[in-house]
Amino acid sequence: MQDKFGRWDKIYVTAVEPILVMVLFAFHVWLAFFFFRIDIAPVAILSILSCMVYIIGAFFKGENKTQNVMFMVFCEIGVFSLMSTIILSFRSGFFLYALPLPLSSFIELTDKKRRKFMCIAISIAMFLMIPLAFICAPLVVEYRVRMEPYDYMFLVGNFVIIVASYVTNVYVYMQRTEKQATETKYKSEHDTLTGLYNRSFLSQHVRAAVRRGRLKGSLIMFDIDNFKRINDEYGHDVGDIALKKVSEMAQSLIREDDILVRWGGEEFVIYIAGMTLEKAAAKAEEIRTLISITPYHEEKRLTISMGVTAFAPGENFETAMKRVDQNLYIAKETGKNKVVKN
Ligand code: GH3
Ligand code: MG
Ligand code: MG
Repeated sequence: MQDKFGRWDKIYVTAVEPILVMVLFAFHVWLAFFFFRIDIAPVAILSILSCMVYIIGAFFKGENKTQNVMFMVFCEIGVFSLMSTIILSFRSGFFLYALPLPLSSFIELTDKKRRKFMCIAISIAMFLMIPLAFICAPLVVEYRVRMEPYDYMFLVGNFVIIVASYVTNVYVYMQRTEKQATETKYKSEHDTLTGLYNRSFLSQHVRAAVRRGRLKGSLIMFDIDNFKRINDEYGHDVGDIALKKVSEMAQSLIREDDILVRWGGEEFVIYIAGMTLEKAAAKAEEIRTLISITPYHEEKRLTISMGVTAFAPGENFETAMKRVDQNLYIAKETGKNKVVKN
């Protein structure tokens, strides 16, 4: 589960950002050649400056590399979009590049200040573009005449690029939102240390089972014996290892549909739908035996005490829980390392 999330993020960070930088770099190299050839030096120089920005970006290092590169890419796109529109007019379609930037910055930039800066800067740039493109027209008339035969090609080309980047952005945004929702749900239902379900998940599951009239089966509750001593003697880390190992062992002996929960501290609950008391007690005995004979760390072993009970017809969850807790208490009081059923 965790791997799946990690893998997607890894692909995004390691592949998308460098690919984006390379594609934009190549695009600006081509633009520089193109505009030199048709004798529009200012845009050619702008393109070279953009290429340099990307070269510098490729050498960025550190934890925030992706964020810094993305911020720089957005600044470059904004400046290029504004300047080329002023020089070449709106007909060449370079203004289109500024339009998705506020949205992209919301998707790509995690830092609020940078997002805010980007949104304000792009909004101002878009407002300035209109008067500046008209006011500067007499100064750049030569360039615009030279550009005229290519205006349509650029307008269509830039439009296609913008639509493609817009679709990519929306896709990335949807993937990320979905990933975050799954992650949040996973965290709210699982215990971080052992990866088992938590109390809240069991409550939800039980409520749903009650609604469907399917709260039948057995409950097993167990608690590690003298766990405090493990922590005191070998340290908290070994205690954590013990908790993980006990979880794994219990999980290995139950079915996928059974619900094993870390109830709290070193206490666990298993809900086995549709299982009789006798069978659940046998299952508990199996778990207890495995845990008592298998070392949890180096040669260290531990034992658990267990309570088992079955739901009486129509009985609610709390009543059954009280009984299983009582059984566990009896197991503890009568010598530990045993199963008490009732
Ligand atoms: P008993 O046999 O009666 O159950 O005795 P016990 O020592 O197991 O029970 P007690 O309730 O006295 O101690 C439980 C200990 O579990 C105390 C607490 O510090 C420890 N504990 C709770 N959660 C964690 C955890 O996540 N990691 C570690 N390492 N220890 C934990
Ligand atoms: Mg204990
Ligand atoms: Mg306890």
